[in-house]
Amino acid sequence: MNEDGFRLRSICYICKKEFVVFEGTAAYDRVKRNAKGMHCCEECKFMIELEARVQFGRRLLTGKD
Ligand SMILES: [Zn+2]
Repeated sequence: MNEDGFRLRSICYICKKEFVVFEGTAAYDRVKRNAKGMHCCEECKFMIELEARVQFGRRLLTGKD
């Protein structure tokens, strides 16, 4: 999986697509520390965060009722 010193490739565990992470980013550090771990691409991470925010918002709304 090791590309060169500046970027790494990993497979997104959600969409199963290969993605590249660049040195100096948090994603790169995660992949480097745990190459066999579960990593997701920026797109899926964005979707997860969006979904979490939506669910959190829903919980706030339903909590008030
Ligand atoms: Zn993905």
